[in-house]
Amino acid sequence: MSILSCAHVHTPYCDGKTPAAEMAKRALNLGFLSLGFSSHAPQTFDPGYCIDPAREEAYQAEIRALKREYADRMTIYLGVERDLCSCCSTADYDYFIASFHYFTKPDGHHTPVDASPEQLKQYVDAYCSGDGLEMARRYFSAVRDYVLSSRAPIIGHYDLVRKNNASLHLYDENSPAYQTIALDALRPLADTGALLEVNTGAMARGYLFTPYPDVFLLKAWKTWGGEVIINSDCHDARLLTAGFSEAEALLCSLGYDHAVRLGRDTLWERFALGR
Ligand SMILES: [Zn+2]
Ligand SMILES: [Zn+2]
Repeated sequence: MSILSCAHVHTPYCDGKTPAAEMAKRALNLGFLSLGFSSHAPQTFDPGYCIDPAREEAYQAEIRALKREYADRMTIYLGVERDLCSCCSTADYDYFIASFHYFTKPDGHHTPVDASPEQLKQYVDAYCSGDGLEMARRYFSAVRDYVLSSRAPIIGHYDLVRKNNASLHLYDENSPAYQTIALDALRPLADTGALLEVNTGAMARGYLFTPYPDVFLLKAWKTWGGEVIINSDCHDARLLTAGFSEAEALLCSLGYDHAVRLGRDTLWERFALGR
């Protein structure tokens, strides 16, 4: 296993289960050369899920202290998983992950994409005339616009809508109609230099058998010359490398010979896959 890093790691400042210090210890024990913390950025709703805006500085201070403590053994980075609905600046962070977790309804309230299937179904019925493909169209165009406007370095779990589609069957993931929507929104992102995250979190938690994004997207991304980063979207230190070997094998089978990770000496570095 050559990955030895993860840039998508949560802490108890958001909905993570493992304290940052314990996570760092686990990463070092696994031989990691770098580790990036990326708690959910502060937002004004769904408080149990994100960093409390009043505690954002404490989060930053704790990760910076760990960064100093581990400096001679492993490079620790201060990141954040930023949603379109987040209310934090990215200026204070080493990097951020652009993720889209919520549809904003006409009344200003939000419907999570990846929480309960019932909530997403209600959104599709109420605002997309029951049309799952229309929901997918809105989702992917919102992700595209967010990545483009934020100049995000990492595109988080690009096709997160797959999680609830597994039980809701809102659309056929193998249909040309769906795949065209997902591909068309992804195409312009390849030219931005953003890293497409190969996210094993749903595999680790038993929701999906393959990482985000789907194979047809990874194939296309490669033909467009895009770069990938493998992350476990870790909320529990025991699962820090869950799905990594499967993701690496999948990428190798698709012809990827390298991926990108947080570096020991530089923010990003390429490394060879399958070694
Ligand atoms: Zn996320
Ligand atoms: Zn996450």
